[in-house]
Amino acid sequence: MKFIDEFRDPDLARKLADKIARISTRPARLMEFCGGHTVAIMRNGIRQLLPPHIEMLSGPGCPVCVTANRDIDRAIALSQVPGVIITTFGDMLKVPGSYSSLQQARAAGGDIRIVYSTQDALQAARDNPDRAAIFLGVGFETTAPTVASAVLQAERERIDNFYVLCHLKMTPPAMRALLDLGEIRLNGIICPGHVSTIIGTKPYEAYARDYGVACVVAGFEPVDILQAVEMLVQQIEDGIARVDIAYTRGVKPEGNVRAQDLMNGVFHTADACWRGIGDIPQSGLSLKNRYDRFDATRRFEVELPPVREHSGCRCGEILRGVIRPLDCGLFGKACTPENPVGPCMVSSEGSCAAYYQYGVYDG
Ligand code: SF4
Repeated sequence: MKFIDEFRDPDLARKLADKIARISTRPARLMEFCGGHTVAIMRNGIRQLLPPHIEMLSGPGCPVCVTANRDIDRAIALSQVPGVIITTFGDMLKVPGSYSSLQQARAAGGDIRIVYSTQDALQAARDNPDRAAIFLGVGFETTAPTVASAVLQAERERIDNFYVLCHLKMTPPAMRALLDLGEIRLNGIICPGHVSTIIGTKPYEAYARDYGVACVVAGFEPVDILQAVEMLVQQIEDGIARVDIAYTRGVKPEGNVRAQDLMNGVFHTADACWRGIGDIPQSGLSLKNRYDRFDATRRFEVELPPVREHSGCRCGEILRGVIRPLDCGLFGKACTPENPVGPCMVSSEGSCAAYYQYGVYDG
């Protein structure tokens, strides 16, 4: 298949669903790790196309959702430092921290600007040479190379008022952390398509080998996802676990080596705190010593309030796949996209927002 329409072809989707129903004889629990997959699954009614004994769970693959309260609190505190401009991708604005959100901090006078690229963030620094422009670096391996590239560009251009508040995270360590928690017994993982474009498939091999979990990298159209499910079910039925690629038009086994080099040149791995999971060793990215001067946490010391979680919000369990959005007592009542209580209702890739938007109320 070459054209996008073919990946949305309802006949093809139906044929794949029929094949899955034919070959699948045993219960299987599959997790889509990526928030983009969660949205695609909801939007296209993929769960309803599958036999009831195939259970689909959503994982922690939304970078906005997994950003911990204390990290949002830090961004808010930095926005209150005189002369500071915070730049961020739009989804972060409404996410509640412990006591407020960046949006509320902006209403209270903070100079917090939405940007659409790291180039915009650099431009904010260029346009305001007498102020500090801090880019809120939230994202996975797909975002990290662009942040690395912005740092290198700032260095080249000698932009000395550009900083990064780095909360970039890496997906494979989070997968291992989830598997180690043992709260959910998974048979298969739909591996993230965009992340795999960068990192390739090698990092998942350990999960197939050590945990016996089937892994298939999927794209984001309905046929992509059904094809990945079919490949996972086939592995499960055959009693094997390996890493396959259903998204061959986007992903090579070795990934994007240039992007990896870029990322590895600017960042080193560091421990990171994930909402709902806690600290995961070596699951984050920090600027290397050579690029210290771009690190907002080194340049500005701020006092942070005690971390507080919102009572009743069950985003943490949703991100671990332990419950579904409908199991949260606040879903659709106290918590809606207009008035979100937790990040899973804010983010365009959040599970709660996807359930709410696509009207999935039958679990
Ligand atoms: S419905 Fe709202 S409060 Fe409940 S888990 Fe989802 S985002 Fe959190």
